[in-house]
Amino acid sequence: MSVDRKKLEALLKWYIQEIGKDLIAVIVVNREGLVIEAISGKSSEKTVDEEIVGGVSALVEPVLTRITKEFSSGAFGTGTFDTEDYRLIFCEAGPDAVFVTVLDAVAMIDPVFPYAYLTAEKIARVFDGRTVSPVIPKIVSTKDSQLIERKKDTLQKIKIQSGEYAYKLILGGEGGVGKTSMVHRFVEDTFQTDYKSTIGTSIMKKECLFEGLSSKVRFVIWDLAGQAQFKRVRMSYVENAEAGLLIYDVTRKETLDNLENWHKEIITASPTISLILVGNKIDLTEKRQVSTEEGQGLALKLGLTYIETSAKTGENINDAFKMLALQIIKRFVVTEEV
Ligand code: GDP
Ligand code: MG
Repeated sequence: MSVDRKKLEALLKWYIQEIGKDLIAVIVVNREGLVIEAISGKSSEKTVDEEIVGGVSALVEPVLTRITKEFSSGAFGTGTFDTEDYRLIFCEAGPDAVFVTVLDAVAMIDPVFPYAYLTAEKIARVFDGRTVSPVIPKIVSTKDSQLIERKKDTLQKIKIQSGEYAYKLILGGEGGVGKTSMVHRFVEDTFQTDYKSTIGTSIMKKECLFEGLSSKVRFVIWDLAGQAQFKRVRMSYVENAEAGLLIYDVTRKETLDNLENWHKEIITASPTISLILVGNKIDLTEKRQVSTEEGQGLALKLGLTYIETSAKTGENINDAFKMLALQIIKRFVVTEEV
């Protein structure tokens, strides 16, 4: 098995950076339990700290034996294990590897696990030899109640109880930021340069599968076209929405400034909506006016996850929708002791 180490390392370093202070180490092991990559989160240079990694590997080993057994039945997916000093998150990363996140004993698993899950998916892609961009959306701790309890020396499987329900997803943002393009990229995996500003609202459906969590999320995506200026139309558009992407164009600063109004309007109409902030058109590097930090700044202010995309190249488009889906299903987490 050959794996692009540089890509894997870049991805893990991004993840470490996003998770922040609670992260002790990340380890990627193969199905036999051999360590493929291990990086410590505590050292300032984010290089391998042999001591920590050695200690944690020893810790992971006995648990891994149990998980590997579960894997062979193809049933493991995602889970946690708590010890005296650490909290571990295990995520299957395709058929070849397991991704282990080692957190401090006092850390909360709930806000971290969606990121661990997305990262595991990306790791699986690295093993597959497919392209993967290391950008992982900025983690934001929400005030959600904690569903994944700390249970010492217990292997807990994480599952999502999600029904047959479909979520109404809306798109907020000024004309031309790429709302329609993002939806087309996500739903049909196509990009057109000559969209006519559609009149009316188009409705599309798409499912996000979360294999390791035995769950799926169905989105009914409402794309409001040109008449967004009519307040009356906008009201019924926003009403009863459960998920939304707030999108701006990184080449036009005013589209970012405008998002605060969209945010206000949307949460007034749907106070419990799950939202994420998206900076689109990152392929236009020469024309870029808004930095990643500025985008993150607004996300932080509004308490939202931030991600940057290109509907043209397709970069991070799936991740943006998946992240949103994960934020929704995070509320339906159940654990099962194994
Ligand atoms: P909407 O008004 O927000 O729905 O925006 P559209 O999806 O109609 O896109 C507006 C214009 O921006 C179109 O010409 C698209 O081709 C272009 N566009 C959308 N997304 C991207 C992107 O990621 N990169 C580039 N270079 N152009 C994009
Ligand atoms: Mg449009």
